[in-house]
Formats: sequence, C-alpha cells, structure tokens
Amino acid sequence: MINQRMLALGNEPSAIRELFAYGLARKAEIGDDKVFDFSLGNPSIPAPDSVRQAIAEALDEPACALHGYTPAQGTPAVRQAVARTILRRHGFEVSPDRIYMTAGAAAGLAIAIAAVTDPGDEVIVVAPYFPEYKVFIESAGCTCIEVPARADDFQLDVNAIHAATTPKTSAVIINSPNNPTGAVYGREVLKDLGDALRDKEEAYGTQIHLISDEPYREIVYGVEVPWVPEFYARTIVCYSYSKSLSLPGERIGWLCVPDGIPKKVNKDAGATGQPYERVGWLVLPEEVRPDGAEEYAAVCGAGRALGFVCAPALFQRVVERCVDEPSDVAAYAANRELLTCGLSELGYEYVEPQGAFYLWVRALEPDAQAFAERAKKHELLLVPSDSFGVKGWVRIGYCVSSDVIRNSMPAFKALAEEYK
Ligand code: PLP
Repeated sequence: MINQRMLALGNEPSAIRELFAYGLARKAEIGDDKVFDFSLGNPSIPAPDSVRQAIAEALDEPACALHGYTPAQGTPAVRQAVARTILRRHGFEVSPDRIYMTAGAAAGLAIAIAAVTDPGDEVIVVAPYFPEYKVFIESAGCTCIEVPARADDFQLDVNAIHAATTPKTSAVIINSPNNPTGAVYGREVLKDLGDALRDKEEAYGTQIHLISDEPYREIVYGVEVPWVPEFYARTIVCYSYSKSLSLPGERIGWLCVPDGIPKKVNKDAGATGQPYERVGWLVLPEEVRPDGAEEYAAVCGAGRALGFVCAPALFQRVVERCVDEPSDVAAYAANRELLTCGLSELGYEYVEPQGAFYLWVRALEPDAQAFAERAKKHELLLVPSDSFGVKGWVRIGYCVSSDVIRNSMPAFKALAEEYK
C-alpha cells in the first residue's frame, strides 16, 4: 500500500520547478543567453568569503566531532550565537534554550505547524502565499484558510484576518518581506494584527500562534523589518540563511520561541543595557505572559516526530562564526531598479517591492497561466500567480544577473505589444 495523499503530492507538478526544468531544456536548445529565466528564488550573489573561511576553520576540527551528531536542537554554541545576534540586531533578549536549529525555513515551518496544531484545526495564510504552506498545513491534518492581502498594496488585511479567525484557528502564518509581492509589514500593521489575535483568543478562550516566516528578513530596500514577537507573545519565528547568506542548498536556519522574560534592551547600550520601553504585550504583568516553555517542548517533539533533528552539523559551525555577517543586497537593489524602470516604461503594472527579490506584475489578461504561456513564446519564464493562491498576476524573480534583465526588455516589449 502507498499513502495516496503522498502519492498525489509527489506526482503533483510544482509550477515553479516545472518552469525551471523547461528553462534548462530550452537553454540547451537555443543557448543560455536567449532564455530569460525568472522562475526560481536561487540567490545570484555568492556566499560571503567569511563562509568559506568558516568552512575551512571547521575542517580543522577532528573529523568525528565535526561530522558527528549534535544535540537535536543544535549545539549550545550556535544557539548562543543566534540568541546574541537577535539581541544585537533587534534589541530583544531570547534564551538560547528557545532556539532550535533547522534545515532551512521549510523545516522550521513544518515543525512550527506540527507543534501548535491538532488535526482538524484551521491555519490562516495570507494570499498570495508561498505554496508549500498548504502542503505543511494539510500534512498536519489541518485546513488551510486563505485570506486575501489588501488589493491595492498587498499589505496585511487585519480586519479580514480577524473575521476569518474561528474557534478552530490555531495558527496564522505571515511572511515579511513577502514572497511573491515584496511587501514588508510595518510596526502599525503588526500591532493591529497582535491586537486582533489577542481579541479572538479572549473571545474564544483559545490560543492562537503567529508563525512568522522570515527567510528574506535581511533583503530589504531601506525599510525596517520589525521583530514580530514584540507585537504578539505567541509568535514563532522561522529564519533561514538560504537567502541572507546565499546558502539555499546547505539547508540551515533556526526557529525561535520567545521566552518568559523577553526584555527589550537598549541597543546603544549593548548586551549589558538596561531594559527599557515596554511595548505591545510586554506591558502585561510578568506572571500572565506566556513563557514559551511548552511551545519549545512541542517544537522539540515535532522536530523528533518529523525527523528534523540535528540540522547539518558543518553549517551549524558556519552559522556560529558568521552569525553577524551583513547581507549584500546591492546587486538585488540594482536589479530591482533596472527591472521596475524598464517595465514601467513599457506600461506594465507592478507592486513596488520593499524587500525580497521578486516583482509581482499584473498579467495582461485575466488568465495568468495563459499570459505566462504567451510570455514563454518570447523566451520569458514568469511564474503564474495561480500557484500562490490568486489569479491574474505573475512573479518575476530578479535574483538573476543584471544582463538577463537588460537583455529581456525587448521580449517584454514584444509581449506587451501583443495585447495592444
Ligand atoms: N518561505 C518562503 C516565503 C520562501 O520563499 C522559501 C524559499 O524560497 C522558504 C520559506 C523556504 O526556504 P528555505 O530554503 O530556508 O527552506
């Protein structure tokens, strides 16, 4: 016997992977420079030199130790390093005992969903959304409830999330900077979201967890990406080095559950600074604040049940050494400029991305799949929005060389002319 749900999942084509495979075949046929492949989110910036150096240093360790199992949740040293960088970057104290090292954000998400849901529960996602959310939610036996983002700017529609929350809602997943729209959620909207979820928790007498999927946290263009636990206590942050350090194939990231005393510390005063300015849920008296201990135990249990224990050991060492490395976003910023200028001159409508490396462009006909098929005739590989749960848009991944963008403009022009 075979599990029919898994069989269906294995046979179900991923639109993005299919398009990427088509691009490889087409490049082999007509030449690399003739195909404009905007399908995949594979970083085009190499990992920083410090990563190579960290790998080299790690190789000096005795082989048995280096390649051996680590504790299921990661080595104490890497968890301390992650907690330190959260404090340095966001001014929030988190215990290393609330950090769990994961094989990328994907494993973090699967663990977080399994940890805070029971079969039959509902999990809210904001459409358009990363297609794997639905896979993880349904694999946990839950129902994926799609709530559209705001139509004009693809920001969170907090009223709609509030209205969609039922006594069965056990989690809400948000993703900022967003794949595919590039939207970044600011402090105001996160505060409203926190208020809305607390309101529903109180009304239903339930617990609702907020899962914040953050693989693009570092890839932003001059805007702040607030630390979500500041606005809602029951937050689980899923982070990854796939994009920030260009390490998608190495499968390394972490998951963080805020602990009982998440002090906001004055960044200017460094690690020894005094707690200051209690905001959001931090104004609650200490005794009624959740301490995250049960969530973390459930995270360890879910990691065990799913087989996501001991994230890649070599890259735990690398993260330990490179945790404060800044991300290089200059090339993505230049690509974003090149692409948006070129497409707006040609009359395309798009959402101005504040982060990540995707451009969300309105298809020139209502059927995004038909539009993407037409684009293919011009050797443009664009991902139709249907795979992200909405109709009428396409995603352009601009994590490519600037030449691909520059050379693709005549093809975008010819495509637009077909619709005149
Ligand atoms: N979440 C979003 C929104 C993504 O775009 C991706 C990958 O592209 C992931 C999660 C998974 O990332 P990782 O490589 O860290 O597993």
